[in-house]
Amino acid sequence: MSDCLFCKIAAGEIPSRRVHSDEEFYAFEDINPQAPTHVLVIPRRHIATLNDLRDEDAPLMGRLLVLASRIAKERGLESKGFRLNANCLESAGQSVFHVHLHLLGGRPFGWPPG
Ligand code: 5GP
Ligand code: ZN
Repeated sequence: MSDCLFCKIAAGEIPSRRVHSDEEFYAFEDINPQAPTHVLVIPRRHIATLNDLRDEDAPLMGRLLVLASRIAKERGLESKGFRLNANCLESAGQSVFHVHLHLLGGRPFGWPPG
């Protein structure tokens, strides 16, 4: 989508600190990190919210989860633990309407989230 911030970041039209790039996915450092590790992992395809997922997106979203977990391992979080977070709509904290996982690690996290 032409006016989507994360589509532009994945396309390299807006600079970002790249963590991973392949045909399907892009991962980059969050501009306002909430933990020592705060990486955003996105599909290149524009999907606005989790509400827009269809059954046929299951393999893509499965690979997104596997990729995020792999990046966590690369960050040394395999034994320390980490959190994967996806917000859907404003009330849950979504501010960018392109589906993304937050990979957070390097500090303890409380539960339930605020
Ligand atoms: P959401 O609130 O939608 O779950 O997460 C959006 C995330 O994108 C936020 O954590 C925010 O800090 C991050 N973000 C917003 N604008 C930019 C940007 O221009 N570059 C990067 N790297 N991250 C951004
Ligand atoms: Zn987008």
